[in-house]
Amino acid sequence: MIEAQKVSKHFGSFHALKEVSATFYEGQVTAIIGPSGSGKSTFLRTLNRLETHDSGSIRVDGIELNDDLKNLDAIRREVGMVFQSFNLFSHLTILRNVALAPIRVRKTSPAEAEAKAMALLERVGLADQAHKYPVQLSGGQQQRVAIARALAMDPKVLLFDEPTSALDPEMVNEVLAVMRELAHTGITMLVVTHEMGFAREVADRIIFFDNGVILEDTTPEALFTQPAHERTKAFLSQVK
Ligand code: ATP
Ligand code: MG
Repeated sequence: MIEAQKVSKHFGSFHALKEVSATFYEGQVTAIIGPSGSGKSTFLRTLNRLETHDSGSIRVDGIELNDDLKNLDAIRREVGMVFQSFNLFSHLTILRNVALAPIRVRKTSPAEAEAKAMALLERVGLADQAHKYPVQLSGGQQQRVAIARALAMDPKVLLFDEPTSALDPEMVNEVLAVMRELAHTGITMLVVTHEMGFAREVADRIIFFDNGVILEDTTPEALFTQPAHERTKAFLSQVK
């Protein structure tokens, strides 16, 4: 469970997050939508301390996210992240990319880590690409590797920041298909996305950010059929 309470964040004098509160429960899939600059990425990044928050509190399974490195370590073990740009290591094969963190961080033996990496690559449909390098794969394939890499650490929570935005349209579906399957495995997912079809079909919950606050926090069904705010209506009419 992730509990964010009155989380605020400034960049200089700019107030990017304004006392944002939300609790995310185990197994829940939450889509986060909203206009550019509304604070979606900043919020997601505060949840595993890629950004620090100025005030308020964030707890992950009861552990307070703060300057205590022990806490941060414990939280980073539970919370994985997938970015818009896949950030794979270009000098490592696909298999090594996926096996790296367990070997380095968990001290898993290379043989065991690679066996598990292979199983994960199988799961995202890329077992046959295991010995290639990132540059030899399409964007959609690289993003699926990035998902496998995040899964290699057995996170309880996966944060996705616009995982399909950098992809050519024909590759979006193969990544969404992997995410759709993941959503049914009981892993907690927070997904910043512009894919309204995905949000509507897969998410249990949808959050609309605007101007550093959560303006709506409801079910996809309610948001898409009866948005409570004019801002939401205006946004939805633009993205649909
Ligand atoms: P997008 O849909 O374009 O990705 P977003 O909702 O993810 O937008 P954020 O990236 O969270 O928006 O940014 C929120 C605001 O904070 C923006 O106005 C942005 O310019 C500002 N901001 C974000 N990161 C920084 C930073 N490191 N330094 C200064 N300002 C920042
Ligand atoms: Mg963003």
